[in-house]
Amino acid sequence: MAARSRPNILVTGTPGTGKSTFSAALSEATNLRHINIGELVKEKNLHDGWDDDFNCYIINEDLVCDELEDMMEEGGNIVDYHGCDFFPERWFDRVVVLQTENSVLFDRLSRRGYTGSKLSNNIECEIFQVLLEEAKESYREDIVVALKNDTVDEMNTNVATLADWTSSWSPMLT
Ligand code: ADP
Ligand code: MN
Repeated sequence: MAARSRPNILVTGTPGTGKSTFSAALSEATNLRHINIGELVKEKNLHDGWDDDFNCYIINEDLVCDELEDMMEEGGNIVDYHGCDFFPERWFDRVVVLQTENSVLFDRLSRRGYTGSKLSNNIECEIFQVLLEEAKESYREDIVVALKNDTVDEMNTNVATLADWTSSWSPMLT
């Protein structure tokens, strides 16, 4: 049985699948705390410098986990990140993998200014369902859910589904 009184939800998926938009909406609907790992890493310097090849911070996974431990123990968090294999398995009660159709994802990432290999690497990541595989390898399959997130209507349905799940969650059920 988990000691926490509210659940922790991990929201993962390829960049551009809508994790941050979805997490913000779910946070609004449930009062769970939205933790955007990318922003946390920047704010609290939980990295080992800048990666020039990938144009992003080299995340320090140990520092991130140390930073989050108390909040995760307390419960009531939505963790938003495009990776999931380095968090302790015991932290999460639900793992949501957002998925987006290739052409839709291509447009979203182009609008974000992604080009060349950065763009194609992310599209490939989505085609090969890298994050879904990572989630299934890292967590019990029965807590992993893949949700299609191409449109605002789909996002609203996904938010409603997870908000219902959250309100009926009980620590006795884990
Ligand atoms: P991520 O955090 O996974 O990188 P974002 O939440 O930043 O993705 O969303 C990427 C872009 O796609 C943003 O411009 C956002 O407004 C748009 N977007 C996100 N979810 C949807 C959706 N369900 N339908 C349409 N557009 C969306
Ligand atoms: Mn994001």
